[in-house]
Amino acid sequence: MDNKDFKIETQLVQSLGKFTEGEPRVYPIVQSTTYNYTSPEVLADLFDLKAEGHMYSRISNPTVEVFENKMAVLEKGVGALAVGSGQSANTIAVLNICKAGDHIVCLSTVYGGTVNLFGSTLRNLGIETTFVSPEASEEEIKNCFKENTKILFGETLGNPEINVLDFEKIAKIAKEKDVPFIVDNTLATPYLCNPIEYGANIVTHSATKYIDGQATALGGVIIDGGNYNWDNGKFSCLVDPDPSYHNLSYYKTFGKSAYIVKARATMLRDFGTVLSPFNAFIFNRGLETLHIRMERHSENAFKVAEFLENNSKIAWINYPKLESHYSHSLAEKYLKKGCSGIILVGIKGGKENAMKFIRGLSWIKSVIHLGDSRTCVLHPASTTHRQLTEEEQIKAGVLPEAIRINVGIENIEDILNDIKRGIENI
Ligand SMILES: *Cc1c(COP(=O)(O)O)cnc(C)c1O
Repeated sequence: MDNKDFKIETQLVQSLGKFTEGEPRVYPIVQSTTYNYTSPEVLADLFDLKAEGHMYSRISNPTVEVFENKMAVLEKGVGALAVGSGQSANTIAVLNICKAGDHIVCLSTVYGGTVNLFGSTLRNLGIETTFVSPEASEEEIKNCFKENTKILFGETLGNPEINVLDFEKIAKIAKEKDVPFIVDNTLATPYLCNPIEYGANIVTHSATKYIDGQATALGGVIIDGGNYNWDNGKFSCLVDPDPSYHNLSYYKTFGKSAYIVKARATMLRDFGTVLSPFNAFIFNRGLETLHIRMERHSENAFKVAEFLENNSKIAWINYPKLESHYSHSLAEKYLKKGCSGIILVGIKGGKENAMKFIRGLSWIKSVIHLGDSRTCVLHPASTTHRQLTEEEQIKAGVLPEAIRINVGIENIEDILNDIKRGIENI
């Protein structure tokens, strides 16, 4: 039976498909940079991308491939490429089809690391980005597009604003403007949402977060939806012969998989930001419990959000499952199984009281991380979004009174009791 025929819970737990008698139950860590062949012709065919197989672990590795294949199935794509971090996933996702002189339209509520990457580092390389509020009208967003726009980029759940992407509105704009729609699905995970079903063409993840789930390994992955027509005159890098790959046309040779094959054959070959087999092993383990964890994260976060919503020390709260939240109807539409474990909450009295809240917690630690099974908190304005200007911070929804709570999978009474200690310390 093919893995695609199963429900997502079974896909996550089982490695279905071909197996040989007596093979290891758990796919091992193949800690080898290179692979044996007896025939030089086979190796030559691998280099020509005429045969499938591993030759050098900068290009591919068996343990990493198991992770890639599972992610492609989970996100309903035609292929996936694993890399060394979420940052690397977004970098390669863009540079695979953009060069100096190109332009990106990006929703302004994306992760701070992505704002730095697009707004600063890629800008220095000649790729310009226009950031636009997801709340802007269709007309306003369309007006951000230029002749040289090559990508529309957003996040399923914005980090840390925790707003839900309006897939129908944004995917329609990408379609009308005929550019690929890239969605960072880190906070929702493939269990809660599959962006490709709602019009995304490319999906990225920081596997460091919920896919690992235990704060042990960095990694990222790009999934190709195989649903964008690259032969529209805008993406000659995928259609024309590539002189760096003896004049291969990715589109003519690999059709629907052109994007992801090129990403491996050129971006990973040249930048070398690989995922280690050890980290891939950790992600393969993490995926097996993703559905159970995401259910509990979502359930606990909703209870914490309900508790905080009615507290007099709280100025505002962002959690889309709450009826009062401006993204609530979008959450009902796109995040039916749950809204993940992240809450953004504003403490009355600004930064000073936000710090008092954090200092009042007993076992909940202040940690630069999310997607962890352990509940933790973070003050984004003084940490993850520190490098942004105050104006950029406000645009990204990061106010001085804001605290991001990563609600873990511990007992809900214990979590609420510690949050109460924080509140009482204000
Ligand atoms: C953390 C994060 C990233 C970056 O991932 P790393 O694995 O830390 O490099 C990218 N996008 C989102 C939404 C994230 O939360």
